[in-house]
Amino acid sequence: MPEQSPQSHQNARSASQSARGPQSAPGPLTVAEDHPFGLHNLPYGVFSTADEPDRRRIGVRYGDHVLDAHTAATALGSPHSDVLAHPSLNPLLAAGPAVWAAVRADLRTWLGYPAIEPFLHPLDAVSLHLPFEVADYVDFYASEHHATNVGRIFRPDGEPLTPNWKHLPIGYHGRSGTVVVSGTPVVRPLGQRKAPTDPSPVFGPSVRLDFEAEVGFVVGTPSRAGEPVPLGDFRDHVFGVCLVNDWSARDIQAWEYVPLGPFLGKSFATSVSAWVTPLEALDAARTAPPARTHDLLPYLDDAGAAEPGGFDLRLTVAINGHTVSEPPFSAMYWTAAQQLAHMTVNGASLRTGDLFASGTVSGPRPEERGCLLELTWSGRDALVLPDGERTWLEDGDEVTISAWAPGPHGTRVGLGEVTGRVEKSPTLHTTD
Ligand code: MN
Repeated sequence: MPEQSPQSHQNARSASQSARGPQSAPGPLTVAEDHPFGLHNLPYGVFSTADEPDRRRIGVRYGDHVLDAHTAATALGSPHSDVLAHPSLNPLLAAGPAVWAAVRADLRTWLGYPAIEPFLHPLDAVSLHLPFEVADYVDFYASEHHATNVGRIFRPDGEPLTPNWKHLPIGYHGRSGTVVVSGTPVVRPLGQRKAPTDPSPVFGPSVRLDFEAEVGFVVGTPSRAGEPVPLGDFRDHVFGVCLVNDWSARDIQAWEYVPLGPFLGKSFATSVSAWVTPLEALDAARTAPPARTHDLLPYLDDAGAAEPGGFDLRLTVAINGHTVSEPPFSAMYWTAAQQLAHMTVNGASLRTGDLFASGTVSGPRPEERGCLLELTWSGRDALVLPDGERTWLEDGDEVTISAWAPGPHGTRVGLGEVTGRVEKSPTLHTTD
């Protein structure tokens, strides 16, 4: 370890900066305490540099820089450098909570020393990659506001919520192989659709392409088959949080989903942020979920939980840079701990890299709805954007979901954004 303490380093830096004058650019270690990617955050990702494009490495975001975690750990003699020596986060995820805490504590120490500077790369000079190998992907339906709006749109004459909704977190298994990192273009899917008034289905590019603003939870420690994971073991298994866009083709979905649920209307692409925020960075954002209106079975009953199950994450959704919604994650009815307990209660085991997403995050107010299906009331009410009206996404549209959470001492914790641009479907070749 370097002998210089972080405090003396900061004093030395401010002295040398004033000697250079106010024009000199601050070094990579000069990150304000209230920076959303300051020392209290430190999310993990995977990056490469322009001179070594094939060498993917674990990076830790600090301010507007990325720390080459393995190179730094090796140079500083860390006992945990082996779990950082990979082109994905999976070995670190598998190592479990004690190693997660030790690595995070080391990072916070190292980032106080000038010796770390050679291992920092400017964020805008690196390429970011899918941060972990996605094992299984599950998507829930945990917002009461979203589920109620969707129920009103699709079943206007019935109860908006299905009878099971308040008794279990509804979910489905998605396609892990098509989870892509933020920035990956999303090709408009082809498929079957049939409006109720159409005599037969037609095939072609989806004409009702939508986004779903969601929060994803990344599983680190696996569990054994046959052994349910109780509510209280959430932190033993879940490593951290990412942002998710569950792209959805509403026309394909509407025609195919009865009776087995989402399939090709969802499986063409799911985007995740390049940064995974460790749970520990969100300690100040823990919040109680909404009051429960039904008694819950014991494995889901979190009334006596040791810590609040919700997270106060403030999401923003923008189309081509124009904000269209600000969904509050704190309004979610079912918590991630309840989702984890439910998806393992039958004995299904967890694998390192499992990703489970919350379902569309929608709040009680119209401007808090997390997808176009709700924002436009299934195409009835167009959104007015600076570049024209939208009912559904058009080719060339870029959807960006960002978020922040309250951090310690009045700071903010920034979550890495998830963005993606819609590309035109491939040309259809017909036989005639
Ligand atoms: Mn979804």
